[in-house]
Amino acid sequence: ATPTALMVGTGRGAQLGILIRGPEVLESTRRVDTVVLDKTGTVTTGRMALVDVVPAAGESAAEVRRLAAALETGSEHPVARAVVDGAGELPEAEDFANVEGLGVQGIVEGHAALVGRPRLLAEWSQHLPPELEAAVEAAQAAGRTPVAVGWDGRARGIVVVSDTVKPTSAEAVRRLRDLGLSPVLLTGDNERAARAVAAEVGIDEVIADVLPADKVDVVKRLQDQGRVVAMVGDGVNDAAALAQADLGLAMGTGTDVAIEASDLTLVRGDLRVAADAVRLARRTLATIK
Ligand code: ADP
Ligand code: MG
Repeated sequence: ATPTALMVGTGRGAQLGILIRGPEVLESTRRVDTVVLDKTGTVTTGRMALVDVVPAAGESAAEVRRLAAALETGSEHPVARAVVDGAGELPEAEDFANVEGLGVQGIVEGHAALVGRPRLLAEWSQHLPPELEAAVEAAQAAGRTPVAVGWDGRARGIVVVSDTVKPTSAEAVRRLRDLGLSPVLLTGDNERAARAVAAEVGIDEVIADVLPADKVDVVKRLQDQGRVVAMVGDGVNDAAALAQADLGLAMGTGTDVAIEASDLTLVRGDLRVAADAVRLARRTLATIK
């Protein structure tokens, strides 16, 4: 009877839009008490929009945007798409490289350029002048993501991008809480942008400014505290954390790498279905006992 009930559970999952790697996954699903949610693309739509361009003193906003967009053409990050969309004709970048979780670098029209977190520019001693510091502060205070742009050894401007919380995320968090799970928001984005999203969906625990390689350590740390951790993510940068979690859930709208690292896939990318998965696992296993 036991295997049959489990098979029925996984079949019911498919009807709900949950792909379950194998029947044994239901056991870890049932035991979960903490759910770590990636921010960009999981709680938010990940379809970012460019909302502002702030040039450093003596620089042109159009030029800051143009070089940033030229470089970002090589990246598939949501930030990159926002910067590139609508930028028009762009020069080609050479020696392009992704700096995981920080930004991009390359050469545009002979200028060695960097686009990414202010931290990336700081690593190359491109420190922000006061007017750009102020722009970063203002963007973060508004819950937005400031992206610094520099070339030829100097920070030249800030482009500001903004993400939107999915309309279903607040209800999803409420349902997860109703099941007794503690939600945690985890992101590589800045703390204040993360807090703004967390407040909007009803999450108190926020872990921000985390590099992709460190997301897995955050999951381990929670496990060391005795918590049984589900991780929900969509990105390449979430894969290791998804694999480390007691239960990995991938957004079906996310990358193949995330899906392959996970135990469950939420086919439609609807976070509310994560709560359905937990409820289904509890019911299925209760039938067996
Ligand atoms: P998340 O954890 O929310 O999915 P990431 O780890 O992918 O975010 O990125 C963290 C931060 O790094 C972004 O918020 C952005 O500031 C910066 N970043 C990453 N990739 C790029 C890029 N291609 N261009 C500019 N900034 C980037
Ligand atoms: Mg993401």
